Amino acid sequence: MPSSIIPGFTGTVIRPEDTSYDAARVIWNAMHDRRPALIVRPQTAQDVVAAIGYARAQGLLIAVRGGGHSMPGHSVCNDGIVIDLRALNRVRVDPQTRRATVGGGALLGDVDRATQELGLVLPAGVVSHTGAGGLTLGGGVGRLMRRFGLTIDSLLSAEVVTAGGEVLRASAEENADLFWALCGGGGNFGVVTEFEFALHELSELVILATFHPLEEARKVIECGRREMADPAAPDELLWTSFLRRANDVPWMPPGLVGRHGIMSLVEWSGDPEQGRSVLAKIRDDLNPAASDLSVVPFLFMQTITDDLFAHGLRTYIKAGFADDLSTGLTDALLDRAASLQSPVSQVELLALGGAIARVPADATAFPFRQARWLINIPATWREAADDEREIAWASGTYAAVKPFLSEGQYVNFMGDDEDDTAAGAYGRTMERLRAVKAVYDPDNIFRLNQNITPAGRPT
Ligand SMILES: Cc1cc2nc3c(=O)[nH]c(=O)nc-3n(C[C@H](O)[C@H](O)[C@H](O)COP(=O)(O)OP(=O)(O)OC[C@H]3O[C@@H](n4cnc5c(N)ncnc54)[C@H](O)[C@@H]3O)c2cc1C
Repeated sequence: MPSSIIPGFTGTVIRPEDTSYDAARVIWNAMHDRRPALIVRPQTAQDVVAAIGYARAQGLLIAVRGGGHSMPGHSVCNDGIVIDLRALNRVRVDPQTRRATVGGGALLGDVDRATQELGLVLPAGVVSHTGAGGLTLGGGVGRLMRRFGLTIDSLLSAEVVTAGGEVLRASAEENADLFWALCGGGGNFGVVTEFEFALHELSELVILATFHPLEEARKVIECGRREMADPAAPDELLWTSFLRRANDVPWMPPGLVGRHGIMSLVEWSGDPEQGRSVLAKIRDDLNPAASDLSVVPFLFMQTITDDLFAHGLRTYIKAGFADDLSTGLTDALLDRAASLQSPVSQVELLALGGAIARVPADATAFPFRQARWLINIPATWREAADDEREIAWASGTYAAVKPFLSEGQYVNFMGDDEDDTAAGAYGRTMERLRAVKAVYDPDNIFRLNQNITPAGRPT
């Protein structure tokens, strides 16, 4: 339809009567079937200014959509307006400065493809159809986090359209309070139309993938705990274990596919020869039922689970941090893993530390840098008929492990039920975030997120 309905807007406007409407309102998590009054796709920052002005004048609730991967469905709403950033997906890489400018609606795959052409990387997430925008604003964990830090630790500046329709640059030098808040405070402070990142050199990884049946999972968890608790554990080493049913990957013997157990991905992001020898030793210690040790291109790894976590799945997520993979936590996890049903659901144990923990606590709004493990419990399934069963499994698992978790929740791995509060997501940074929110969004128009209420307003 003509965009003249929004003064000054040059992008695309989609209304419920348009043929493209149903496809345009879909987000990754099929649990959220919502019908906005209007979907707009800006082409420039000025279009975002126009869309915000229009929404405010009409009193419309605003949802901002980057890659659409919000598990609680924050990027789509009923009756309001969706500002869909997908046309702002340009990625430019400067080989001289080793910096990338990334559009606010770019996907991780857009970033990876452009940066890898020059042998450079942005440390970010592990599924290429995830939005770089939402992932960055929440912190950004992924396979290079122990080596290069969270995604926000590579963020240099951002162009932001505020609630008042100003286009601002935020960096350590300019609007430093806003920049600090963008680094972990989620989508609370405005629409980021462009990010500027520092890049790092890397084009391949050494990976060890293993599977053990559930009876042997305790041994695997204990091995991961030992390796990553060692103060000398190199930043290049990353350990992730998944309690799940064995999936159909090329190295898995057909007889094991579907069996309950633990899959681990131990990755090395440094010198390949050294990595091969470190990972071969870990494989010998683990003595897995099935395994694969290889050197792979970074781009290959970044797309390897794209299909497993394809659009259109249904998800319910619970997560928390742990200081240690204690015996109590392991007992609870192993007990719950036995009752897992969906072939996509899993409990993920992600080792943190390394470069993440060396950034000063107050440097960014991400408050949980000293946590050692992130315990992520995403139930994921295909059919609506399984909703009750899968939600009960994830919430029951979370209840069982909660006594063994440390404080806080990772804002990007949260749902929206009673356990999932903004206080949990932002911890001790909350009061400072509320003060920044009062400056840049005093009327809380950006509230479809893990919401920070402006200082001076009731929480
Ligand atoms: C399959 C899958 C894999 C994932 N893997 C990882 C991972 O490896 N590491 C990790 O850290 N997280 C991961 N996540 C979580 C992911 O980081 C969050 O869901 C994140 O919010 C997704 O960002 P998005 O832009 O795709 O989502 P959206 O749903 O579009 O947005 C999520 C939130 O961010 C806001 N937002 C998005 N873009 C902007 C912008 N440019 N300006 C202002 N606000 C914006 C939205 O308003 C919304 O509140 C994964 C999620 C999924 C579903």
